[in-house]
Amino acid sequence: MASDENLAKQMDRTLHWQILGALVLAAICGFIFEAGTGIGDAVLSVFDFVGGLFLNALKMIVVPLILSTIVLGIARMASQDSFGRVGAKTVGLYLMTGIFAIASGLFFVNLIAPGVTEHADKLVANIGDTSGIMERVEGRTAADLIGIIERAIPANIFSAAAETQLLALIFVGVVFGFFMSKLQGSIAETMTNFWTGVNDVMIMITMWIMRFAPLGVLALVGTVAIKSGWSAFQPLLTFAITVLLALAVHFAVILPLLLKFFGGVNPIQYYAAVSRAQLTAFSTASSSATLPVTIRSAENAGVSKRITGFVLPLGATVNMDGTALYECVVVIFIAQILATTSGVEFTIMQQLTVVILALLTSIGVAGVPAASLVAITLILTAVGLPVEFIGIVLAVDRILDMCRTAVNVTSDLSITAIIANSEGDALDAANEEQEDEEEAA
Ligand code: ASP
Repeated sequence: MASDENLAKQMDRTLHWQILGALVLAAICGFIFEAGTGIGDAVLSVFDFVGGLFLNALKMIVVPLILSTIVLGIARMASQDSFGRVGAKTVGLYLMTGIFAIASGLFFVNLIAPGVTEHADKLVANIGDTSGIMERVEGRTAADLIGIIERAIPANIFSAAAETQLLALIFVGVVFGFFMSKLQGSIAETMTNFWTGVNDVMIMITMWIMRFAPLGVLALVGTVAIKSGWSAFQPLLTFAITVLLALAVHFAVILPLLLKFFGGVNPIQYYAAVSRAQLTAFSTASSSATLPVTIRSAENAGVSKRITGFVLPLGATVNMDGTALYECVVVIFIAQILATTSGVEFTIMQQLTVVILALLTSIGVAGVPAASLVAITLILTAVGLPVEFIGIVLAVDRILDMCRTAVNVTSDLSITAIIANSEGDALDAANEEQEDEEEAA
């Protein structure tokens, strides 16, 4: 069995810098190339191909990785009787950070009021094409999204795996791991060895895929940079700044404070240790696709497998602070536009409904790009706002998706550190770069 140290040593010590370099290069591509021109479209199709390969590779390992990580994590926890305690802490912290994130969003959207502008009419007149989203939400209500929790018990394990239904897989992994811990003798050892082997192989594959991250990041972020030029951004600048400020407060103030006071780690060091996961989340705009990297980063920072195995897969699925915050800001922004253009005021009761629905639907939203748009459409319907107004934010959605996904993943990682600390893990925030340097020595 390959040990963690050996695995970490295989990491390319310059990978961090390569990924950051790729981000810069992607931004430069945005300035040089333009969608719709011959060369711009040629670059886009190459990026599309390369980015697609990278994303597929990450998604490919999600199902076996989640299952093996959860089975092992739960089996370890169950044998120490800490399952109930860790579970309660996890759910409590997920809810608490979600509420903090929404509060930050509400504060900024009411303070800056991006929808109260003389350009409101223009924004409404230029609504983008919403047919794609409308198809996805047809016949659904906000209650359906919340109802995803009901489907957490799959009727068929294999179809749940085939459709990457993460909550269902988490359920199967938890039950399997729990009863696996009841096995005795040599069969218990065989089962533990089997799942440990699967998990180690998945981790090695993750690290191998990450060697291609610079290329993947260049392709994925380059596509966004080329497609959404500055002109798309300008009319929505105040709205985008509102979202970014609210996300920044959560990312750079609230989560670091929690990390410092409850996680017992230096937030700067911890963020440095998990930056590969944050960058992958930013580039892919998908918490699920980032999950292999998230787990690896947390373990590198010193979190034990019994904690990462449960807290992170669940977090990637249900803990979406950035998403909850975004849903709230968009809906209230739209309400402000409606009030400005037609005088229909948005009541405090409606605002409260938005908060509750944002928190609940963010649990049901899948960790894939643009998933919040579906939830936002359903919330708009629930509070009686015009759904087609979602088209107003489409032009800047992708770039904000990248940012909110990075916040989603950072929140999962912060809560993991807090729980690990409370459970006695020694979080030395062993920076990946430090390990790489040790390897070079
Ligand atoms: N892209 C987000 C994630 O994967 C979900 C969303 O807000 O659209 O976490």
